[in-house]
Amino acid sequence: MVKAEGVHKSFGPIEVLKGIDLEVAPREVFCLIGPSGSGKSTFLRCINHLEKINAGRLHVDGDLVGYRQNGNKLHELKDSEVALKRRDIGMVFQRFNLFPHMTALENVMEAPVQVKGETKAVARDRAGKLLDRVGLADKAGNYPSQLSGGQQQRVAIARALAMEPKLMLFDEPTSALDPELVGDVLDVMHGLAEDGMTMVVVTHEMGFAREVGDSLVFMDDGVVVEVGNPRDVLTNPQHDRTRTFLSKVL
Ligand code: ATP
Ligand code: MG
Repeated sequence: MVKAEGVHKSFGPIEVLKGIDLEVAPREVFCLIGPSGSGKSTFLRCINHLEKINAGRLHVDGDLVGYRQNGNKLHELKDSEVALKRRDIGMVFQRFNLFPHMTALENVMEAPVQVKGETKAVARDRAGKLLDRVGLADKAGNYPSQLSGGQQQRVAIARALAMEPKLMLFDEPTSALDPELVGDVLDVMHGLAEDGMTMVVVTHEMGFAREVGDSLVFMDDGVVVEVGNPRDVLTNPQHDRTRTFLSKVL
């Protein structure tokens, strides 16, 4: 579903991704850990067409990100084409960024109606089901200010799912939450994983990575230091850098 080969990304003189090679299979839950500044968010943003890579190749769902192939010529995608690609990728951030003037239900309905031109009736029906799926059927009429952080994050997940994405990206979805609210959000993500969603998850929740993750990657300073089965990486890291990092977070 995602294939990165030698992906490089710089911001001016600073090289943030220094040749990333990774592959995420369909239906896989792929967890990404690493110190602050190691390039985790940047990598997600490259997958989601929010950043352009400087070198290497990045494929999502078989397509080269940012380009359209015509015979053996590559054409850079226009903004409108990029927007179409991004519809297939759901992204959930640390901060939920719900529309404050819309109810939970309206937040979930918004993109299918505005972006896909779906009828409100169809969008409302799906939004109701998605809120039910994230355990918030009874909060459909609440505004974000009337929801806890964990509830808002679950609405944000439902909102991303409303576009029926092929791939979901999560960037530290629980790190802004009070500890007692984290579990409900992780449970929703666990459910998504069981339903076969392909997920790339940047997280510091090692329990989630161990229980739900199929692969765990440790990134440091723009490179993949170690990748493997989460239990193996967490209990028997092969590199000193991984060991040092884990000793701080476990
Ligand atoms: P954290 O755990 O703190 O979220 P991260 O692993 O997600 O860290 P990134 O956000 O990918 O790290 O940032 C990696 C590096 O790239 C940092 O040094 C950051 O300052 C730099 N960086 C990210 N975005 C930009 C940008 N738009 N312009 C310049 N530098 C950037
Ligand atoms: Mg980050």
